[in-house]
Amino acid sequence: MSAAAAARKILTRLTEVMASRLHAQAKLDQVVEIIGECLSSEVCSIYLLREGMLELFATRGLNQSAVHVTRMAIGEGLTGAIAQKVETLNLAEAKAHPDFQYRPETGEEKFHSFAGVPIVYRERAVGVLCVQHVEPRRYEDVEIEALQTTAMVLSELIVNAELVDEEEARGLTAEMTGPQQLTGLTLVKGLGAGVAVYHQPRVEITQVMAEDIEAERQRVYRAFDKMREQIDNLASQAEFGVGGEHEEVLETYKMFAYDEGWSRRINEAIDSGLTAEAAIERVQQHTRMRMREIDDPLLADRMHDLEDLANRLLRIVSGQVGTAASQGLRKDTILIARNLGPAELLEYDKRRLKGVILEEGSLTAHVVIVARAMNVPVLGRVKGVRTTIREGDEILLDATAGQAIIRPLPQVAEAFHARFAKSREKQAAYARLRDVEPFTRCGTRIQVMMNAGLRDDMSMLAMTGADGVGLFRTEFQFLVSATLPQRERQTRLYRDVLDAAGDKPVIFRTVDIGGDKSVPYLASEIAVQDENPAMGWRALRLALEREGLMKVQARALLEAAAGRSLYVMFPMVSEPWEFDAAKAVFDEQLAFLRAQKKLLPERIHFGAMLEVPALAEVLDMLLPRLSFLSIGTNDLTQFLFAADRANPKLAERYDWLSPSILRFLRRVIQASIGSGVEIGVCGEMGGRRLEALALMGIGYRRLSITPAAVGPIKELVRKVDLAELSAAMTGWLAEPRGDLRAQLAAWADARDIEYD
Ligand code: PEP
Ligand code: MG
Repeated sequence: MSAAAAARKILTRLTEVMASRLHAQAKLDQVVEIIGECLSSEVCSIYLLREGMLELFATRGLNQSAVHVTRMAIGEGLTGAIAQKVETLNLAEAKAHPDFQYRPETGEEKFHSFAGVPIVYRERAVGVLCVQHVEPRRYEDVEIEALQTTAMVLSELIVNAELVDEEEARGLTAEMTGPQQLTGLTLVKGLGAGVAVYHQPRVEITQVMAEDIEAERQRVYRAFDKMREQIDNLASQAEFGVGGEHEEVLETYKMFAYDEGWSRRINEAIDSGLTAEAAIERVQQHTRMRMREIDDPLLADRMHDLEDLANRLLRIVSGQVGTAASQGLRKDTILIARNLGPAELLEYDKRRLKGVILEEGSLTAHVVIVARAMNVPVLGRVKGVRTTIREGDEILLDATAGQAIIRPLPQVAEAFHARFAKSREKQAAYARLRDVEPFTRCGTRIQVMMNAGLRDDMSMLAMTGADGVGLFRTEFQFLVSATLPQRERQTRLYRDVLDAAGDKPVIFRTVDIGGDKSVPYLASEIAVQDENPAMGWRALRLALEREGLMKVQARALLEAAAGRSLYVMFPMVSEPWEFDAAKAVFDEQLAFLRAQKKLLPERIHFGAMLEVPALAEVLDMLLPRLSFLSIGTNDLTQFLFAADRANPKLAERYDWLSPSILRFLRRVIQASIGSGVEIGVCGEMGGRRLEALALMGIGYRRLSITPAAVGPIKELVRKVDLAELSAAMTGWLAEPRGDLRAQLAAWADARDIEYD
C-alpha cells in the first residue's frame, strides 16, 4: 500500500471519530485503536504535554493502568527525546537506543521495535504518537509517513479539544509572559525600540482533513501557478531591481517553484486525505526536520529558500497573502524572522522599521549588508525567539550590546529610552554637520570620505556630507551573488554609483576576494582550504591570474565612467610589478575601447592599497607610478603584528595606538612628502576617534571611514589644533612611555574633545 493510501485509510476512520459526539478522551482511546489496527501494530500510544511533562493519554497494547500515570520529562526517554528534538525515531530495537528508559508500569518489556513521531503545533511538540511491535523490525517509510500525517491531524484535535493546556500549546509558558532578555550576535550596531512583528505572519490552518480531495488538488495547482507567476514577476519589481545582485537569489527561487519533487510530495499528502494547507504544512514540517540534520551552511541556505516559498504557497492557498511588509507597519517595529532576503527587508517602511532580530544571520549575509546601508540595527543568531517573543510584545533592542529586552519592566524601559534619546541627540548633531566642511581649528581641511560597497550605501553620501567614497569595495557585488556577476551587471552597478556620487569622487577598489571573503562559485579555486587564507591566493594575486576576472571588471569600470573621472585602486599590492600588471590590464581594455571608438573616461587615476608591509620599503619605486595611495590598516596591522584579524582571541591584544603601527604609518607618510601622491587611510582605524586623532597627529589629512563615523569624525576635526597635536605625537613617539591610548585620551579630555 502507498503512503498516501495507508494514511487515507487511517484518516477516513479518524474523520468519523472526530465528527462523533464522544468526549476528547474517548476519541483518543479510539484513535489509538484505529492506528494500531491499520498499521497492524501491537502497541499504539499517545503522549501529550501537560504541565511541562509528557503524559501517557491513551494506549492500545500497554497496560491501561499506566494511562495518566506514566509521565516523562521533555528530553527523557525515547518519547522525551522525540518531543525535545521534534524529530522522528524508527528503531528495530528500542532498548539499544541510548535514550531508552524502561517504565515497568507500562508492561512494554516484550516489545522490541519502536517508532515515534512528534505531534507538532506551531513548530513545537505538544505530544508524541508512537507504535511498538514484539518483533524487532524497522518500520517502513510508508508507515512512518502515515504516522506523521496522523500526528498532524491529531494536533488539531488535541488543541481544539483543549487536551493540552492552551497556554502550553501556544507556547505561552512563563518565558512568554514576564520580562526576558535574549542575547545574540551584533550584526549591525545600534539601538531601537518597537513592538514585535513577525515577518511571516502565521497562517492559521483551520481545517486539516479534506472533504473533497480533488477540490484540494485543484486549489494547490492554482496556488502553484500563482506562486510561479509571482516569482517570475519579482524580477521586474523594484524590490529585486534595486540590486542586480539579487537575480541569482531569484534563480534559486525559480528552481524550487518549478521543482517537480516538491509539488509531487504535496500532492501525495493531499492523496492521504489532507487539505491543501495541511498538505503544504505537512511537507514543510518534513523539510524542517531534514534541515535540522543538515550541517552544510550552503545547503541549509537553500533549504531556507524552499521554506520561504512554502510559506508563500501556504499564504496564497489560504488567502492570507503577504508578509508583514505588505500589511504595512502600523507602529515602530522590531522585525522578527528566522532569516530574511535583502529584497524582503527593503520592502519594509523605513520610517517604522527600528530593528531586526534574526534567528540565523551572519556578518556577511546579504541582508546584513543591506541593513547596514539602511542604518537598521540587527541582532542575529538569537536563540529562543519563538518561545519568548509574541507578536506585539514591546522590545528594546540594543544590537551594539548584543541583546534584546522583551516586555521590559518600566524602570528598564525608562533607562533605555533615556540612553536612546541621548544617542539620537548626538546623531542629530552629527547630521547638522552634513554641510559643514571639516576644517581643523588651525584651518587645515581634512578630507573625510566614506567606505561603501553596495548601491544602497550611496544615499549615505548626501546624508553624511562625506567628501566622496574613499573605498568602494566592489567585491560586495560578488559576495551577494550566487554566481560570478556578468560584465553588464558590473557596469550597471558602477554607473549607478557614479550617478549617485555626482561630482564627488568614488575610488573603486578592484575585487578583493579570497581570504575571509570567499565566494561559493570560486571556492574550489580560492583556497578555503589554505592553511593561511589571509596570506593566501587572494585579492590582486587572484585577480591577475584569473583570466577574465580583472579584464571584465576593467571593461565594466571603463565603460561605466565614460565621459567622467575614474579612480581605480588595487588591493594587496605587495610589489610594484603587481601594480604595473594590474594597470596594464586596464590599459589594454582602454586601447580596445579606443579602437572601438567608444567614449572613454575623461581622466583615470590609478592608486594602490598599502596593506602588505613589504610595500612600504619600495615606496620610492612605487609612488611615481601612482596618483594616490590608501592604507588598509585592517590588513596592514594583521600583517605587522602577525595577528589574524578574524581571530577573536587576538582582537584586543594589539592596539592600533601602539608605537610600532604609528611609527610605521608615519614613515609611510614621510616617504610620500613631495611625491604629489595623495595619501589616506581607509581601514576601520580611521573611524575611531582616538585613532583618528593619532593619524592626524602624524600627518594624515585624508580618512575614508564607515558612513556612521563621518559625523563624529567631522566634529572631532573641528576641535583639533594640528600643530599642538602633532607636537604631542612627536614627543610620544620619540620616547614612548606607558600607554599611548591613555595619554592621548587625557590630552583629548583636557581639550574637551569627546573620544569614545
Ligand atoms: C583594509 O584592509 O584595511 C581594508 C580597508 O580592506 P578590507 O577591510 O576590505 O580588507
Ligand atoms: Mg584589506
